[in-house]
Amino acid sequence: MNVLTEYQIDLKKHGRHGVKGEIDRVKEYYYGNGFLLASKQIDEPHKHHHGRGHHQDISFYHHDVLRSVVMLTTKNGKVEERYQYDVWGKAYEGKFEDNSPGKGHPGNVYGFTGQRYQPELGVYSFAYRDYDPRTMRWMTEDLIKSKENWYQYCNGDPLNFIDTLGLWDSRIHYGSEEYGGTKEWAQEVGFDPDEAEKIASACNAVDYDLGTNPLPLIGDQSYHFNTNNPNPTETHTPSNAADDSRRERAEEHLANAIEHQNKADDLRETRHDGFFGGIVDFVNDIRASYHEDKALEELGKGLHAIQDISAHIDGKDGYVSKESIFGYEYYTHLNERGKEADNPGYRGDPNARYHEAKKDTIEYLSRFKEGTCNNS
Ligand SMILES: [Zn+2]
Repeated sequence: MNVLTEYQIDLKKHGRHGVKGEIDRVKEYYYGNGFLLASKQIDEPHKHHHGRGHHQDISFYHHDVLRSVVMLTTKNGKVEERYQYDVWGKAYEGKFEDNSPGKGHPGNVYGFTGQRYQPELGVYSFAYRDYDPRTMRWMTEDLIKSKENWYQYCNGDPLNFIDTLGLWDSRIHYGSEEYGGTKEWAQEVGFDPDEAEKIASACNAVDYDLGTNPLPLIGDQSYHFNTNNPNPTETHTPSNAADDSRRERAEEHLANAIEHQNKADDLRETRHDGFFGGIVDFVNDIRASYHEDKALEELGKGLHAIQDISAHIDGKDGYVSKESIFGYEYYTHLNERGKEADNPGYRGDPNARYHEAKKDTIEYLSRFKEGTCNNS
């Protein structure tokens, strides 16, 4: 795991108890896998050399599924602070660091969804803009403008997703009673419930995982939009176009999936005699289940790209546009028309896009079944 370190240096604001501008506190933050893992605080480091006033503390951060900080512990495992939030991110338990006079609580500044909390203002700082949990609104206009609700966080549905750019929502990618989705459709093709669950989880995770999420710069937009279409507002890509970047991703993952499955089948088919042969078979079964899991994961990733074709339709009737921010070009559907592109029940025939996604899903998974020898 790569650990990244960030420093925060606070200077003295008042001259009363020290020289103004002197270093008051140094804080070191350690990140790994995109999570804040720990922080170390050194108070008045200049006094260290004189052997007095020196104070050094390390805290470990614990997160929930939304990446919100829920607990801080010391190096001895003692709980320092617990945090609880309402669904809008307002903390109703736990103290945050507050530098205002008389209220000093040295400690944590990270809270809801792992974002930095500014106690003086009561808002969270996200990468592009600030969010106020009390009013449930962004503090500034959305830089990536959607015409209505410029200030609204996650379209009023903070539990469903963290503010990201493209989610043909989990009702399709994962599955739901309402729409069936990957989990149900995989079973129609002949996967058992466990296998279907693994495919569905991998499919849904593409929107959140580092490297595949739809955010420009830190993700991979080619899973979610046809990044081979230079003018998505004008040119419509037919849903079966082979040069659609999403088809390209899907084909790569299908080939990988078939390769893993064939490896697994070979390992399970070759049996050995005798006591030692039994051990070899045992080890080979473990290797086989690794490849079987990998195959399902690859299928899930490929499926995500296939399903996003129905969600993010380009061309004149579509939802996708190409924008640029600070000279960097990226694809988005968070424009006027595309605001609801990820809602399976949106526009005209409410189920047309959902039917298309279902048909494509079943076709894709059937190709896997045909490409592997054991059609169990
Ligand atoms: Zn997506």
